Amino acid sequence: AFGLFGLFGGLGGGVGLVSAIARSRSLSRRLRAALRNNELTIVYQPIVRLADRQRVGAESLIRWRDNRGDAISPDVFIAVAEEEGFISEVTRFVLRRVLAELADGLRARPGFRVTVNVSARDVLDPTFAAFVRQELHAAGVSPGAIGFELTERSTADREAIGRGIQTLRKAGHAVYIDDFGTDYSSLSYLAQLQVDMIKIDRSFTLALEDGAAQSLMPQMVAMARTLSLGLVIEGIETDAQARIVADIDADALGQGWLFGSPVEASRLFPAG
Ligand code: C2E
Ligand code: MG
Ligand code: MG
Ligand code: MG
Repeated sequence: AFGLFGLFGGLGGGVGLVSAIARSRSLSRRLRAALRNNELTIVYQPIVRLADRQRVGAESLIRWRDNRGDAISPDVFIAVAEEEGFISEVTRFVLRRVLAELADGLRARPGFRVTVNVSARDVLDPTFAAFVRQELHAAGVSPGAIGFELTERSTADREAIGRGIQTLRKAGHAVYIDDFGTDYSSLSYLAQLQVDMIKIDRSFTLALEDGAAQSLMPQMVAMARTLSLGLVIEGIETDAQARIVADIDADALGQGWLFGSPVEASRLFPAG
């Protein structure tokens, strides 16, 4: 749902749209240059088992600081890369960088899994799975150590996406539906696509502590169990939220400021 209007909404009128397009184009040019000039970096946010708060994995998240030193949000520039047709370069950059930074750590910690965010375009790309296989082979990392997160906001052909997902799963990767519950078609999505895990959007975590919406988390957890899906609860910021969720499902995983903000590779694995 991040179209030009979503990004630059509120400008209104014809002139606003023209300048929004111009801004998107110029951002796109700067992003391509940033990709070439190595201005993009990766940080990793821990994912823990809620029952004992042990780190079982991490999500890779891209960062961009432009040459003026200003941070640009991935929510903005990933949408631009998708619209301007070079998201697959970004995804490939991220996967390579993750492997370059973490291969040793991952080999030393079987069972630890790092996820990479992908877009529908990557999953639909017939060369993507082979690219992944080659990169993992070169890095000596097993497919189980790398998972892929796909948001449900993509509107593209679900049958084709389903096939792409199965290709990745057959190769040994876990596939996650990201930001689950934010799209009107969440349930039909799950009925049509076979995945391994869902990441429940942080809006549901925020709602845990206030009245009516509180009941939605148990329903979603029950649904995930019925479908034998693993669960990551996003956006856990307080101890109270962590305890509420752990009470609902002791097997669930969690991610959020409470367990750690995104850090650079050298700080992901505690020393020793
Ligand atoms: P996401 O995949 O849902 O990532 C989770 C976002 O929530 C991250 O924002 C993370 O920093 C933030 N977050 C984590 N814990 C908390 C918390 O406790 N409270 C709050 N309020 N926020 C929390 P970030 O890094 O700004 O990324 C935003 C989005 O940009 C990501 O959402 C993802 O959709 C996209 N993105 C980031 N990196 C990549 C990438 O390498 N490739 C692609 N395709 N998309 C990416
Ligand atoms: Mg994600
Ligand atoms: Mg998410
Ligand atoms: Mg998100």
